[in-house]
Amino acid sequence: MMEDWPCGYNWEKLDNYVLNHANKVNPLLFSLISKKPLTNQSIDELIRNGLRLESMKLESYGHLLGGRVIILRESLKGYERDKTVFHEVLHALYGVKVSKDCFGDRIAKENNALVEWAARRFRAQPNLLRHTIKSFGLEIEVYDLASYYAYNHLQQGQLQFPFVNGKLAPYLSIGNLMD
Ligand SMILES: [Zn+2]
Repeated sequence: MMEDWPCGYNWEKLDNYVLNHANKVNPLLFSLISKKPLTNQSIDELIRNGLRLESMKLESYGHLLGGRVIILRESLKGYERDKTVFHEVLHALYGVKVSKDCFGDRIAKENNALVEWAARRFRAQPNLLRHTIKSFGLEIEVYDLASYYAYNHLQQGQLQFPFVNGKLAPYLSIGNLMD
């Protein structure tokens, strides 16, 4: 069953699923994502209101407990870690009505698809990625173009990725950034 859960879809499949299907099933959530997008200010407000993050041993990728504690699997790295953080932050931002995605039914699956779809889009914004990861006190990880742009002002030294040397095209395709 988990293979058929949208968090595991590649970007092309997830994008198709949401644009052709899930947005019609939950138009409220779909419109919330554009009317109330995640921003640096909304991250600050969520944290001011008590949202915090704890890493621990977990089977699944992450959960949001009681609307205010993000539980993150401690072994997650790079893209998997960051997209999970964004996914759980969106549950906190959009509230319990859209958070019931753990029960395996059809509505749960569609809610999960929408949240995952939006999470990947927000994560791909370098400023928002940097602000979110730093706000939760997580280590910086560079693994793609968005995360490279998020932190390249820090001049960490190494960072010799092929996309830095003018071979941008394969990395700029949206699927590569958001799978
Ligand atoms: Zn979820």
